[in-house]
Amino acid sequence: MPAELISLAEAREQVLAAVRPLAPEEVPLSETLGRVLAEDIASPHDLPPFDASAMDGFAVVAGPAAELAVVGESRAGRPASRSLGRGEAIRISTGAQIPEGADAVIPVERVAESDGRVQVPETPAGANVRRAGEDVRGGELVLAAGTDLGPAEVAVLASLGRERVSCGARPRVAVLVTGDELVPPGRPLGPGQIRDSNATALAAQAARAGARVELVEHVPDERDATVAALERALAAADVVCVSGGVSVGPHDHVKGALASVGAEERFWGIALKPGKPTWFGLAGPILVFGLPGNPVSAMVTFHLLARPALRALAGAGPADVRAQAVLDASVRKSAAREQAVRCRLRAAGDGWHVEPTKEQGSHVLTSMLGAGALALIPPGDGVVERGERVAVELLARGTLSS
Ligand code: AMP
Ligand code: MG
Repeated sequence: MPAELISLAEAREQVLAAVRPLAPEEVPLSETLGRVLAEDIASPHDLPPFDASAMDGFAVVAGPAAELAVVGESRAGRPASRSLGRGEAIRISTGAQIPEGADAVIPVERVAESDGRVQVPETPAGANVRRAGEDVRGGELVLAAGTDLGPAEVAVLASLGRERVSCGARPRVAVLVTGDELVPPGRPLGPGQIRDSNATALAAQAARAGARVELVEHVPDERDATVAALERALAAADVVCVSGGVSVGPHDHVKGALASVGAEERFWGIALKPGKPTWFGLAGPILVFGLPGNPVSAMVTFHLLARPALRALAGAGPADVRAQAVLDASVRKSAAREQAVRCRLRAAGDGWHVEPTKEQGSHVLTSMLGAGALALIPPGDGVVERGERVAVELLARGTLSS
């Protein structure tokens, strides 16, 4: 590893600079939830498309109190068959089109009705009328390319009549986990063996980032097996994540194997804790991440580097994921490395608060449980005191980030 480690900010810049967004594809509306919009969406018409009643009641010509003859009905989806003149009222339902000639609606509760006639109070023009185009004007831009499609966005697409929309392709991801000590769930643990959690963690994170996980393999600590697995991964994916084996021990084969499959190094080593032994490079257009083997380091570096790359490949606009939060416990700084501290996130009267979940060792996977955010503590001496504000990046979907 070079003596000069690059900063997290520089590493992320280099990763994003290497991304060429994938070609978009047409997606049926029912499958767009969670996708990234790849076209600007303008409304083909006014929304609402016509002047409509906001109440059940009577459509009238605005004016003083009067007795009017009820001459027809406008129902939702079935407009009145005639227009309205002076001295007349048309019964109307919520959402029904305002009849020609009418310019106000009187709610049914404010009307006395008998023998086909209604006594109505004084009514100002426009009362209880939803104007055409009040929500969106025809031709107006409603959603911009790069927008994440959540429930509200897909609902608006439906309201504009879109059956299909252009979405960024979902990047294909391959996950390789290296280590002779690793045993998948379901098989007994032998002496000195540990569970492989990175395969599950990285595949889950990739899926959460909107990617398709095409391949997950466990690779023994052997040079030839590592090369062969990398070749399969590169043939299957837009992004390859390898965990472990990326250091310089006698049984670490990832860097050598990456070189022999033609992956070009962009950086190796980040001034980040956890996450120092992180490698990034390109094999042609394919992004390759050599992530640390320690389970927390693998998840944190995936989140901070691979996730933004996957989102950029899908065409997502740059997300503002940083916020400030009040630190509820003091944290010791690390002299030379920025720290990504796994924190519980809590909303309080004075804004967001964060507190480390538990002991922060890079092997303590349960420190990720309940972590809503990473607090980013700059390198330096001493401590960041309880009560100080720190930068945070949100981890969990559904807290603040998408
Ligand atoms: P390495 O980078 O291969 O030296 O691994 C660093 C540490 O992470 C070692 O303690 C490994 O046993 C552990 N480790 C590596 N891969 C995994 C994995 N897939 N699941 C859980 N722990 C792992
Ligand atoms: Mg290893």
